[in-house]
Amino acid sequence: MSDALFATLQQLLGAAHVHSSDEAAQYLTDKQGRYTGQVIAAVHPANTEEVAAVVRACVALKAPIVVQGGNTGLMAGATPDASGRSVLLLLDRMNRVRQVDTDNDTLTVEAGCILQHVQDVARAAGRLFPLSLGAEGSCTIGGNLGTNAGGTAVLRYGNTRELTLGLEVVTAEGEIWHGLRGLRKDNTGYDLRDLYIGSEGTLGIITAATLKLFPQPLAQATALLAFDQLAQAVAFLSHARAGFGANLTAFELLSADCLALLREQFPDGPQPFKGASQPWFALIELSDNHGEQHAREAFERVLGEAFEQALIADALIAESLAQSEALWLLRENMSEAQKRAGRNMKHDISVPISQVVAFVAHTDAVLQQHFPGVRNFTFGHLGDGNLHYNVAHPLDSTVEAHMAQYAELSAMVHDSAHAHGGSISAEHGIGQRKVGMLGRYKSAVELDLMRRIKQALDPHNLLNPGKVLEVQP
Ligand SMILES: Cc1cc2nc3c(=O)[nH]c(=O)nc-3n(C[C@H](O)[C@H](O)[C@H](O)COP(=O)(O)OP(=O)(O)OC[C@H]3O[C@@H](n4cnc5c(N)ncnc54)[C@H](O)[C@@H]3O)c2cc1C
Repeated sequence: MSDALFATLQQLLGAAHVHSSDEAAQYLTDKQGRYTGQVIAAVHPANTEEVAAVVRACVALKAPIVVQGGNTGLMAGATPDASGRSVLLLLDRMNRVRQVDTDNDTLTVEAGCILQHVQDVARAAGRLFPLSLGAEGSCTIGGNLGTNAGGTAVLRYGNTRELTLGLEVVTAEGEIWHGLRGLRKDNTGYDLRDLYIGSEGTLGIITAATLKLFPQPLAQATALLAFDQLAQAVAFLSHARAGFGANLTAFELLSADCLALLREQFPDGPQPFKGASQPWFALIELSDNHGEQHAREAFERVLGEAFEQALIADALIAESLAQSEALWLLRENMSEAQKRAGRNMKHDISVPISQVVAFVAHTDAVLQQHFPGVRNFTFGHLGDGNLHYNVAHPLDSTVEAHMAQYAELSAMVHDSAHAHGGSISAEHGIGQRKVGMLGRYKSAVELDLMRRIKQALDPHNLLNPGKVLEVQP
């Protein structure tokens, strides 16, 4: 079967665009190096028709199809299993910008476009495409849609879902759904677009998208704020939302331990609040369409009121673009700082903002009770109730001993998020890393509805099997 399929794929795409498992080794391990797969072939189709032809060839021989974008996903959703039965679909040749429509404020791009390129195209057209995340130099729009990526500007602009008006999708049967509508209003039945977004390649292959553009802000203002307690940061968030309105673009939390880790791992990097005693910090950004003066006045007014009401303990306001970039570098370096310090347990959870303080207090206490000495590196998108609640090994223990307790420790974190009305995956998806966990947190009704959707859209369970949902053969 595999030789026949390999030959068919070569006929469809040309031999130069079809590779064996050995030749495609660079695509077969996930970003964090936890999973490695095998494939019949890795293919690079040039256009949507070729994607559809590949899917039909795979369906005919019942070969599973795994679609991969930039392979920056953190749940190993784009890594095939080790059976060697799958075909890996790589959309790197599908990186064209199909249309820039400044009257409609939309951009239509193919799924293989790198996010940073899409941002650049929007900027060149005098617009903003606001999706922004640490992996933007290598992740693709297809992967952003597949995971419904969030990032640092969700507070103002929403997740990838909210930034998308239309999709073009190759279905599990190899048909093409031409849904590239640039409509902001379209109530014509079930929303297929929203089903495909966030489905991690398990319901269809997204080949292109029509995305929303926004005006480029005329001015941006950035500050790093210090808080005496987490509750103060939450209260200030409310105050800032009221004071800045929609102009509040980012509200990124960093614990004092995160800042200390950044200092340790990047001794030549920015060192704000060195020696400060506050336990929590937040990086906030305001985007303003009325210019520098307006932004500065709004900052002075809202921060001034916050000082008077004792909502913030200290503030460092960026006086230049360079200073603003230095503050953002802190947040951007968090992934790398943790990597340099050794592996830790990552939890991408969300809770209602009103539950953040209780979640952190409860979870910190439970972990210290069961795993004394573990160190928390908690940071993330407080404005979205999304925390990266990461836990490192006690200093008198080893990374290996700590990681061996992953299942037990993570269950406590996820149970706590669930008990506080939250989610066990805020923005990274389920992939294969969390696939076994859904049954614990979703009701039987919800899981059954999800399985029925999967069955309806992918009846042979050939699209990214083993990801998101466990489906019985
Ligand atoms: C340093 C760093 C920072 C990050 N920061 C953030 C962050 O702030 N917010 C956030 O949300 N994520 C973040 N991520 C995670 C990751 O970058 C995102 O999930 C991103 O959207 C994945 O895009 P990708 O192209 O790399 O997708 P991949 O990793 O290749 O794939 C991810 C999933 O999408 C599916 N998929 C890929 N292409 C398609 C397609 N065309 N059609 C259908 N499904 C598809 C895959 O099958 C897989 O299930 C970060 C990752 C890193 C390494």
